[in-house]
Amino acid sequence: MWRSRWNDRNWERRVSEIETSLLSIDRLGDAAAIIAAGGIVAFPTETVYGLGADATNAAAILRIFEAKGRPSDNPLIVHVADVEGVFRVAKEVSPIAQKLIHAFWPGPLTIVMPKGEWVSEVLCAGLPSVAVRMPKHSVAIELIRRAGVPLVAPSANRSGRPSGTTWEAVQDDLSGRIDGIVCGEPTELGLESTVIDITQSPPCVLRHGAISLTALQAVCPDVVSLEDLKGVEQVRLRKSPGTRHRHYQPHARVMVAGLKTEVMGNTLSEGWASNPSSRAWIGLSSPNPVSDWRIIQVCENVDEYARVLFSFFREMDRLGIEAIVCESVPEVGIGRALMDRILRASVDE
Ligand code: AMP
Ligand code: MG
Repeated sequence: MWRSRWNDRNWERRVSEIETSLLSIDRLGDAAAIIAAGGIVAFPTETVYGLGADATNAAAILRIFEAKGRPSDNPLIVHVADVEGVFRVAKEVSPIAQKLIHAFWPGPLTIVMPKGEWVSEVLCAGLPSVAVRMPKHSVAIELIRRAGVPLVAPSANRSGRPSGTTWEAVQDDLSGRIDGIVCGEPTELGLESTVIDITQSPPCVLRHGAISLTALQAVCPDVVSLEDLKGVEQVRLRKSPGTRHRHYQPHARVMVAGLKTEVMGNTLSEGWASNPSSRAWIGLSSPNPVSDWRIIQVCENVDEYARVLFSFFREMDRLGIEAIVCESVPEVGIGRALMDRILRASVDE
């Protein structure tokens, strides 16, 4: 059935009428066959769920943009099953790329490199570069292997919404718009990969993730972070896409508590839902007094906070919560990625 659907040139009009199969992880052969025929299937990785399609099939890639409602100027990450895969995707694998690959793959590091010839304009949103990652998740690796091609796999959520970290979240966002969901466990890290651009010098972190700036600098000492660049250079790299778009937002208003520095998002003192029954708190400590809150989620450590943040956002939406307050954490290790997501979620558009 998915075969005729994908061959049908009118699929765009029926994007919300697709029958989405729920596949257990022992049905990866079926998931791979759907992808090989141009279908799109969500699957677990160690970061968040990805929405996979054959990276060599431009029509399938277009379906990903359509299903997610993703702006066409925001390029996709190509996922490979082994280090050799990167040679199929990138034009050249520089010594810096090799060092990073050796140190961090498989794992949550996406490397932006000069793109190989066959990589489509649609995939890269017209940029001369391509982002590549080798995930560290047995289901993801096995699916890419069985599909026999690299997979594009953006986060499996409607564009602008919190990334899907459980198959149920993926189903809520994308059911009827994609062909299948491989139903694995909730994801281990809960935040998207670190993205580093090595097409320019010095190499620059475009998005923070579980691989910290410090860890990257231990391998490549001159790596910088986008926020640390000034003026023209930052403007040029901000053209790199994901940094421009609205991101990670639940329907509830997100505010940040305990920030000491000037911030771009809403702080707790600005706009505050008056009714305690519509407030939720998440952080490493408990708010005081607790009677001011309907929901309080205290995480044991920053790793757990990062792992549960997006599913907490989604659960609060389900409960009709109007205001979510996120306690700030020190911006070290994954704390930097966590604060990045919280601040982006807290920006009013
Ligand atoms: P997502 O797959 O939704 O987690 O987002 C992928 C992220 O990688 C976005 O922030 C993209 O802008 C970024 N990205 C993908 N390809 C490139 C590229 N060629 N150059 C710079 N950033 C990229
Ligand atoms: Mg995303």
